[in-house]
Amino acid sequence: MSEQQADLGVLGMGTMGANLALNFADNGGFTVALGNRTVEKAYGIRDSNPALAERLVPADSIEHFISTLKSPRVVVIMVNAGKPVDEQIDLVLPHLAPGDILIDAGNADFNDTVRRERAIKDTGIHFVGMGVSGGEEGARHGPSIMVGGDQAVWQRLKPLLEPISAKFDASPCVDWLGTDGAGHFVKTIHNGIEYADMQMIAEIYGVLRDGIGLSAGEIGDIFSDWNTRGLQSYLVEITAVTLREKDPETGKPLVDVIVDEAGQKGTGRWSVIEAQKLGVGATTLEAAVSARGISSRRAERAEAEKLFGDIETARAEFHGDHDGLAELEAALETAKIIAYAQGYAVMAEASREFGWNLPLGGIARIWRAGCIIRSRFLDDITQAYEAGEVVNLLQSPHFASRVREGQASLRRVVAKAALAGLPIPALSAALAYFDDYRHARGTTNLTQAQRDLFGAHTFRRLDREGVFHHKWPQV
Ligand code: NAP
Repeated sequence: MSEQQADLGVLGMGTMGANLALNFADNGGFTVALGNRTVEKAYGIRDSNPALAERLVPADSIEHFISTLKSPRVVVIMVNAGKPVDEQIDLVLPHLAPGDILIDAGNADFNDTVRRERAIKDTGIHFVGMGVSGGEEGARHGPSIMVGGDQAVWQRLKPLLEPISAKFDASPCVDWLGTDGAGHFVKTIHNGIEYADMQMIAEIYGVLRDGIGLSAGEIGDIFSDWNTRGLQSYLVEITAVTLREKDPETGKPLVDVIVDEAGQKGTGRWSVIEAQKLGVGATTLEAAVSARGISSRRAERAEAEKLFGDIETARAEFHGDHDGLAELEAALETAKIIAYAQGYAVMAEASREFGWNLPLGGIARIWRAGCIIRSRFLDDITQAYEAGEVVNLLQSPHFASRVREGQASLRRVVAKAALAGLPIPALSAALAYFDDYRHARGTTNLTQAQRDLFGAHTFRRLDREGVFHHKWPQV
């Protein structure tokens, strides 16, 4: 291969980087330079894809990698978040020139993206934080792509990214969402919502397994049925697939032999931290992240079961209640709407706070295919934003009517699960948030009174304008 022939380069040949590079070569028809810390992997990717080998250019060193790129250069970094990204930037930056584009396509804390963009700005090299969702399959055949950075740079990237993105009704699932960290922020909230969605599905699975007493296969059939209606989504579809899968070694349902411990990586935690910083309640996302934390304390949970297991009172609430399936379906759908409304509320507030003007309806549009939370439901979100100003998705006419219809089911499922001692942290968080949110007269008047008593924090009155302090009795 002669020098300067590659249309772009991908640095990082892990699961995502390698598949994204193959996607650029295959669906984009681009020639792609392949760079990796462990150089052999880059050659391995080319050698194991003979049909695309002509368009894959493995590099031995950063100098070699750069020398294969057409100018102005486009370099996509796809390594683990944090220090590895800074290291790759330090490695590649001295070889780039003004006008070149450096993209971080991994997951990133958007605060890092803002910092990196600022640090690079004066060099004339463009830094782009870009969220990519869809896992291995998405990266290879069409992910959902959330682009941040300068809008002018997006115009240059569009012809590279549209061909490799997922398509929904022929519309590419990629867009520019706002300046600096907007793309990575939206990807973070996408993952927070994904955590909540998965957790609520798992909680309903728990009710079906431990409450009603169904087998994994039976539960798989139920999710498969639910996937034909309002809950239709990739996550519900894969839930059915995983529940029906048998362990080749034991013949048991595979889920029954999988340890109930899940890790939580950057994005879930970041989504909750950012929600708190912005002062937006994202309680279902928080419940999902916390549930993974609790899941990882397996030995401790076993001890707690010995201590408190006998508190369970009314498993009979559910047992054999096959007629309750419609109620569970409605409860899950309602809680899901509340979780997405929370994620959207965080994005709306971030948009105001950081001056991004996020296209909230457009975000749902690019999530309709390629990404992990893809679903029919996202179309309804796009439509809600297209129909007019949305204060909160829960107040948009379509979702308000669905929640009005489904809330009684969510209420009954949460109440029955609580009586039966079944863990439903995200479902109950959804209901608690909903009840809090729909009360014009809440209870923080008492909190304000307490704060004024012990700290002279002052309060406002319902019947008069102004800020007041009361001389409370001495305690
Ligand atoms: P991975 O399979 O573990 O690959 C990690 C890559 O990063 C490898 O190429 C590795 O190089 C490189 N790397 C790690 N530390 C490095 C360092 N200090 N210096 C240089 N290179 C380093 O990870 P992945 O799943 O592809 O994830 C990459 C990014 O995509 C992450 O930000 C991840 O959060 C994000 N992401 C992942 C998914 C997913 O489903 N996997 C989905 C969306 C986004 P070596 O080969 O030399 O070790």
